[in-house]
This record gives sequence, structure tokens and C-alpha cells, in this order.
Amino acid sequence: LKASFSMVQFESEEMNGFITVLSDVTEQEKIERERREFVANVSHELRTPLTTMRSYLEALTDGAWEDKEIAPRFLGVTQTETERMIRLVNDLLQLSKMDNKDYKMYKEQVDFTNLFQHTIERFEFNKTEKIEFVRHLPEEEVWVWIDKDKMTQVLDNIISNAIKYSPEGGTITFTVDVMKQQQKLVVKISDEGVGIPDEKLNKIFERFYRVDKARSRNLGGTGLGLAISREMIEAHGGNIWAESKEGEGTTVLFTLPLMSQSRGDEE
Ligand code: ADP
Repeated sequence: LKASFSMVQFESEEMNGFITVLSDVTEQEKIERERREFVANVSHELRTPLTTMRSYLEALTDGAWEDKEIAPRFLGVTQTETERMIRLVNDLLQLSKMDNKDYKMYKEQVDFTNLFQHTIERFEFNKTEKIEFVRHLPEEEVWVWIDKDKMTQVLDNIISNAIKYSPEGGTITFTVDVMKQQQKLVVKISDEGVGIPDEKLNKIFERFYRVDKARSRNLGGTGLGLAISREMIEAHGGNIWAESKEGEGTTVLFTLPLMSQSRGDEE
């Protein structure tokens, strides 16, 4: 807390005095520091692919374009880097939209089991890795009041991480627990991957935080996926967190409030 005193001079001599302003500067300083760190991070994240592209393009200009073997490889690198920059800028736009006060959500009544099932199927259909999917989903419909597109994005982020960090032959388990008493559902996505050290478990939801920077970059990550997911889950009145054992695997969990008048209850 900071108190600032200002001398004020009024027109009449006798009324000179002080005005005391009390303001919470620690909070302001924190916001300012975070803003500066964010800009530094963004610049760094954009500079890395740009400098990589510059050196590959320089090599191509210097003659590598004539080499039938090298040229396509170098062009491939610049393409990968361009795609990562597009992902990064899209993620940044998404975050900036969410920071905006009049950010709109289009919530509707959705059966979560159905949405989850479809999302899992999409990944199952497209996956090239040898990874097994196991489902523990409720038999019945589970009604929630959500923005379908945003929730799909959250699920996409968590599932693609689980796949990225899974070993070959690993299992990913998808669970939905309906807790009627507490009027919420708990969604769990578990993998058998590298895991996350305890002291870093909360940090992975911060913007640009990665446990292993090089690894995340190689896997095409932006370091923003879970930060976006957290904002989206919180905007739905839920919580998101992770549990993990290094070398054994990670579980990302989130909650969502159940609709009070769920159809399941009426039956
Ligand atoms: P990224 O684009 O780097 O994946 P995220 O915000 O999605 O960014 O995740 C942040 C970091 O959290 C990752 O870089 C990784 O270090 C860690 N992480 C996320 N999910 C997992 C997982 N399933 N297993 C191990 N580490 C994970």
C-alpha cells in the first residue's frame, strides 16, 4: 500500500492543505511487471522462428535452392516455422480477446458426454501414434451450460498434450465423474507420459510456461494452450488443475457446474 501526499493550493490562503491518496501499488506493480514479461515473451517467441527462417532462406538464396535434396528440406523447415508462428499469433489473439471485458461466450445446453465422445473420436480417427484410448464415460446424458466451441478448444488442448507427451504404446484414459450432490462433473484426461515435477504443476497453466522449452518447441507447442484452457474453464465457473508423477504420467482435471434442471434428473 502506498500513500501519496500532495500539497493543494486553493484560491483562499487559509484553505491550503494536503490530500492523501491511498492506493494499492503492489497490485499495480504486479500487473505492470506481468505486462512487461508478456511483451518480452511474445517478442522472444516470434523472434526464434523468424531467425531460424532467415538463416534457412539465406542458405537457399546462397545456392542451396539448386540442391534437389537440401532445398525441399530447408523449405520444409521454413514452412514448419511459419505454421508455428500462425498458431502462436492465433493463440495470442484468442488471449487478447479473452482479456477484453466484453468478451462473448455463446453458451447453450450441451450433453457433455456426447461432446467429449465426439472429440475423442476425432483424435482417435486422426492419430498416427500407437496410443491406446480408454474411456470411462457416463452412460447417461450429462447436461451442462457451455460454449461448445470454447469447450472443444479446451479438450483439444488437453488431449493433444496427452498425445504429444505420451510414449509409444501408452494409454490415454478419459474419465467423466458426475457428482450430483455437488452439482458438478469432473473430467480427467490421464496419460502415461514423461510427467511433470510437483513444484511445476501449477505453473503449466501460466502463459508461456513450459517444463521443457526445447521439447515443447520441437513438438510445435506455443506454451499458451493451457493458459487459454484455464481462462475458458474459469469463464464457465469451473476449475482446472494437474496431478502427476514424474516418469509415470500426468492427469489434467477440470470441473464444470452441472445444469440444475438437467434432463437426467427429470427422468
Ligand atoms: P505447449 O504448447 O508447450 O504444449 P501448454 O500450455 O499446452 O503449452 O502446456 C504447457 C507445458 O505444460 C508444456 O510445455 C509441458 O511442459 C507441460 N505439459 C502439458 N501437458 C503435459 C502432459 N500431458 N505431460 C507432460 N507435460 C505436460
